[in-house]
Amino acid sequence: MATFVPLLTSGQLQRLPERARDVVEYRKSGLSLNHIQGCPLDCAYCIRHTYGLWDQRRPRALMSNADAVNALVGHRYFQPHTTPVQVFNRATDPFLPAVRPHTFAVLEDLDGRGLTNHVLVITRHQMKPDDVARLNQLRHIKLTLLFTFSGIDNKQIEPYPSPVAAASLELMSAPAPRRYRTILYWRPLVPGLNDSDEHLVRAFELGQLADATVFTGLFYRDEIAAYYKANGLPEPYGETARRKIVPETLEQRVLSVFSTSAALFRKTSCAVSYAHGLPDYNGHYGIRELCDICPLSQLELCAGAHRMPTPDQLRAAAAPLPEAAGLNVVQVSEQAAVVAGLDTEQPRYYLQHALGFQVHDAAHPHHANRHGRADIGWKDAPGNE
Ligand code: SF4
Repeated sequence: MATFVPLLTSGQLQRLPERARDVVEYRKSGLSLNHIQGCPLDCAYCIRHTYGLWDQRRPRALMSNADAVNALVGHRYFQPHTTPVQVFNRATDPFLPAVRPHTFAVLEDLDGRGLTNHVLVITRHQMKPDDVARLNQLRHIKLTLLFTFSGIDNKQIEPYPSPVAAASLELMSAPAPRRYRTILYWRPLVPGLNDSDEHLVRAFELGQLADATVFTGLFYRDEIAAYYKANGLPEPYGETARRKIVPETLEQRVLSVFSTSAALFRKTSCAVSYAHGLPDYNGHYGIRELCDICPLSQLELCAGAHRMPTPDQLRAAAAPLPEAAGLNVVQVSEQAAVVAGLDTEQPRYYLQHALGFQVHDAAHPHHANRHGRADIGWKDAPGNE
């Protein structure tokens, strides 16, 4: 069994934090496969902080690629041809030199099974000219490469230079035609750090090279805030939030710079779906104010796919999941289904993708015009009226 990074022993595996041991986990944009963990790029805002993996700088494998793909496609959340999949988006970069053979192995295994699921690969690393031909050989999966680019030049916050991601985006976007799609994943946008007019114009220029652009803010969770404090980094916000933060005035400036772009999106799934000529797999069409920047042809696609499920259909979709036994359908509207009784977010994401419809948690209401983001920086937010 070949692994290109060291394989953890069972003793080492047992000592990992509990959440880090889950190699298959549902995250908002898809079912995420993470059997390689560890990254030396040291972005201060890395989500690894929240998995107890920050100190793990060297990539290591929790299992072989073949076992990992079997675990993914055999998972109760995986639906062939439907479930969007993300590869190595939680704990490493898929194109680190030691990790890239694993990335190719996983993609080629999924493709070899004839699966047509969306597969998202997020990277900020350098890609190589040969990667174009190799990825173009994938015949079935709908592959999207998302290039994380922030333009942040504070080396304490982002030591790995943003121009590398920009060059990779340019390299991988240039060939035509190609089977995979490319996205400028412009994040995290942080006021005072990377939101000057020059930063915004640079992102616009880069976005013209890609099939679509997504802009989004910072996940400023407690663990990340603690790291900023402990290391004397400039704290972007005075409070933390469970959702990403994009202040209102910043959003308006982004929309204005991109006013001539036909492919700017607030949601990753919208950009990915658009790039493949498909309706949004997360069913965001119900949240009407999200769609005001979307091209008309895409709006029509999403409108045509929008089907409001009945409570019975929601319960039937949840029936195979033991952890959804307590599901309570609170309300279903054209916008979204609101549910309660689920202990974690994962079964909710499963329902969302199974039905192509937004499924919200009654405990975390979404606010109008906030696009599922944190309240911080919006003048009509509670406490800011
Ligand atoms: S129409 Fe709305 S839901 Fe569909 S891709 Fe555009 S923004 Fe997303």
